[in-house]
Amino acid sequence: MNTGMRNAWADDLPRRAEVAVVGAGIAGCSIAYALARRGVRVSIVERETVAAGASGKNDGQLLLEAAEFYSRMTETLGRDRARAVLQFKVMSQDALAAFLAEKRLETEVEWSRRGCYFLASSPPEERELRASCRLLAEDGFGVEWHDAAEVRRRVGAGAFSGGLFVPNDALVNPLKLTRAIFDEALRAGATYTGSCPVREVRDGLLVTERGELAAEIIVLATNAWTGTLIGRRDLIWPIRGQILSTSPLPPFLEVGCSTNFGYEYWRQTRDGRIMAGGFRWTDEEREKGTDLALNDAIQKRIEEFVLTLYRERAAELCIEHRWCGIMGFSIDGLPLVGPLPGRPLVWLAGGFTGYGMSYGFGVGEAIAELITEGRTRFPIQPLATSRIAK
Ligand SMILES: Cc1cc2nc3c(=O)[nH]c(=O)nc-3n(C[C@H](O)[C@H](O)[C@H](O)COP(=O)(O)OP(=O)(O)OC[C@H]3O[C@@H](n4cnc5c(N)ncnc54)[C@H](O)[C@@H]3O)c2cc1C
Repeated sequence: MNTGMRNAWADDLPRRAEVAVVGAGIAGCSIAYALARRGVRVSIVERETVAAGASGKNDGQLLLEAAEFYSRMTETLGRDRARAVLQFKVMSQDALAAFLAEKRLETEVEWSRRGCYFLASSPPEERELRASCRLLAEDGFGVEWHDAAEVRRRVGAGAFSGGLFVPNDALVNPLKLTRAIFDEALRAGATYTGSCPVREVRDGLLVTERGELAAEIIVLATNAWTGTLIGRRDLIWPIRGQILSTSPLPPFLEVGCSTNFGYEYWRQTRDGRIMAGGFRWTDEEREKGTDLALNDAIQKRIEEFVLTLYRERAAELCIEHRWCGIMGFSIDGLPLVGPLPGRPLVWLAGGFTGYGMSYGFGVGEAIAELITEGRTRFPIQPLATSRIAK
């Protein structure tokens, strides 16, 4: 039976639920929303607060491309599986767009679907991007190749020899998006307990610092922290990402941008700030783990990158905010979605390897369909946890 709004802000942990979702990021909130609107009694349990993890700290680019360019993915996964991964992302973004339209949330979450770039900063990168562009087009994905002049016109920077443009990619305020999905999950009948760290995950039982919650199925939407929670840091482990934002500028950049094989990225926010991050590769050892510490050397690199890119505007640019977030990297760079092998009552939804904003809403729908119907219309196979059973 759906509990409606009565327990929505219950201070105490409920004693039982049909499904318990651990983690209130984009994944956990999407799963809870999708289950609750199908009438499942679902409880979210969160260590801190809604969007306290990476979902409240990223730059909100919803991208077709994944952790590896398509040219590489087709080699490592094979063409069919690579295509299925990106089809999953397209379906996820379309489902999110439909949800935002239905609930009239586009303005509130600062949604815009004007496209994002992967920009070539070297000849090898241009070769890979051109190859990806060709393969993506062959496989039916909407992509365009833009030359240096077109890139300069749209990005306002002349450092790139060309770029792969995906017109359907979107930008969003990730904190507002996660909170909006959370609100809709509560409206649909989910319950929530915040400030409630889960200490142990048994089959059918969550052991938390504030008591125990019995549930038929437990879904761990704890991304970076999942490996530690289940004692499998070989499957999902935490990697830190540094990011900053400038003072507001007049609007000039309406697309999202990434370069250097996706390592560096930037965009302009609705209030005019340039938000940029990356350079993890310059200090990989120190960027491992869950410590939310600024890395001064990396922060300096990001700052120099922005000031060089937009040197004509450097006088107006002042760095106003610096922060970092913790991502969950997976064993093969793809999310892990579904029951933990050997433990059918404990499900994973994590390991998004830096791209969870575009997978998140679709993962919610897919998990809800799998739990309630035993199958899903999403091409889940390449993301399924069955691959780690082998
Ligand atoms: C700097 C940066 C930039 C990024 N840019 C992008 C981007 O542009 N596009 C994109 O798609 N992705 C981006 N990402 C990645 C994206 O933020 C993540 O993939 C996504 O937010 C993951 O969502 P999630 O819900 O799985 O995890 P999270 O948002 O991290 O949520 C996990 C939640 O689980 C909770 N939790 C953990 N352990 C426990 C426990 N024991 N008990 C209870 N609760 C627990 C945490 O408190 C947290 O709230 C970026 C990440 C960073 C850090």
